[in-house]
Amino acid sequence: MALGALNARSTALQSRSAGGRRPQTLVAAAAGPHIAVVGAGVAGLTSALQVLEQIPGSCVSVIAEQFHSDLVSAGAAGYWEPYKLSGTPQDKIFKWGKATFDHLTDLVHSSDAAAAGVSTCYATSLFRERTPDPFWAPIVPGFCRARQEQLRRYGQSVDWGGPFAAEASGAEGAGKAEAWVDGYCFNSLLCEGRLYMRWLTDRIVAAGGQLEQRGLAGVEELGEEGYDGVVVACGLGAVGLLRDEECYPIRGQIARVRAPWVRECVFGHFGDEVTYIIPNREWVVVGGTGQVGDWRTSINVGDADAIMGRARQLLPSLEDAELLSHWVGLRPGRTQLRLELEMRRLSPGATSSTDGDDGGGGGGAGATPVVYNYGHGGAGLTLAWGTAGDAVELLRGALGV
Ligand SMILES: Cc1cc2nc3c(=O)[nH]c(=O)nc-3n(C[C@H](O)[C@H](O)[C@H](O)COP(=O)(O)OP(=O)(O)OC[C@H]3O[C@@H](n4cnc5c(N)ncnc54)[C@H](O)[C@@H]3O)c2cc1C
Repeated sequence: MALGALNARSTALQSRSAGGRRPQTLVAAAAGPHIAVVGAGVAGLTSALQVLEQIPGSCVSVIAEQFHSDLVSAGAAGYWEPYKLSGTPQDKIFKWGKATFDHLTDLVHSSDAAAAGVSTCYATSLFRERTPDPFWAPIVPGFCRARQEQLRRYGQSVDWGGPFAAEASGAEGAGKAEAWVDGYCFNSLLCEGRLYMRWLTDRIVAAGGQLEQRGLAGVEELGEEGYDGVVVACGLGAVGLLRDEECYPIRGQIARVRAPWVRECVFGHFGDEVTYIIPNREWVVVGGTGQVGDWRTSINVGDADAIMGRARQLLPSLEDAELLSHWVGLRPGRTQLRLELEMRRLSPGATSSTDGDDGGGGGGAGATPVVYNYGHGGAGLTLAWGTAGDAVELLRGALGV
């Protein structure tokens, strides 16, 4: 959605230069704590909404350089499955993934489902080697192993191109991959980024949240603005904002095609690479790439050809699909998702921060609780409601509310 459209709907959106002051009316109006949420992607918006819902009387400002259509969150197909989360511990992924799955399931069965862009979907994952059940299998309903006759239906004579060809040729001759030998199926969820972002924004504004479009050079810039707490949910922006050297981009290129007859989600795994087909409401998303450390946001023709070629082999009816567009997004990769509290001195002139992720009094007098919530890799829509819940819990503990 263009920012203009957002502006038209939301009278709360303000744009101001860095260093501008928070309107005094906000300070006067709110009875509870004043919280700044940095970032308007799925991590930031879910955090902002849960602050408003869980901290009575709170006043929230969402501060972000970019809103909506420009974001990786808005471009995501929104399929639920933990993906590209590097070293994030499985028990945490399970907890956040389940909380998010439960939230989205509630949403699917609510009157908000259409507006929020959520729906159920049936998913089949295919592998070229025996693969155990994923650790998150207990979260999803109807998990089962794929039968042989199911496996045989997908891409029997797969002639993988691009990065797959060399590996495949070792096994079966030049460029020929073996048939799928294993797989599983389950009922998953879709939460389309472009719609879910809009729904979250509407909920935040309706609850009194403020939207401010501006970039920050550092979190310290908020020091003069009198916030009681800060949530930093800046995605890949942590590289610049926090000088976080553990963050890196994972480039994802996809195609969007018109193929309304495709109703199932299909994933063909080849080592770490996945070819995927995910139906959204107005198109089918066909992916993809996962190039680690690659900052290019331009469309790569070779990637586009390889993506479509592999997808057509997986689901031959895609030959008849009309190509609508290509898209590239940079997933916010990190050594592991960062969700922790730090008590930081944000006051003017403070040059260093005092570590302390214990929720206790690190940072000394005048320190502000800053909760970090970023590094969602390829699973922001899959985990965000859960990570936001924990972020707000950390904030409440630090504020004693
Ligand atoms: C091709 C592709 C497909 C995907 N499909 C799925 C999927 O099906 N399911 C799924 O779960 N995930 C998917 N993802 C991953 C998902 O998109 C991300 O994990 C998620 O969007 C990350 O959200 P975020 O809020 O952390 O970051 P972002 O959406 O990037 O938001 C970051 C926010 O922080 C702001 N910001 C950054 N720096 C600053 C600064 N200095 N000052 C002010 N503001 C700042 C930005 O302007 C922005 O508002 C996909 C990703 C790609 C690329």
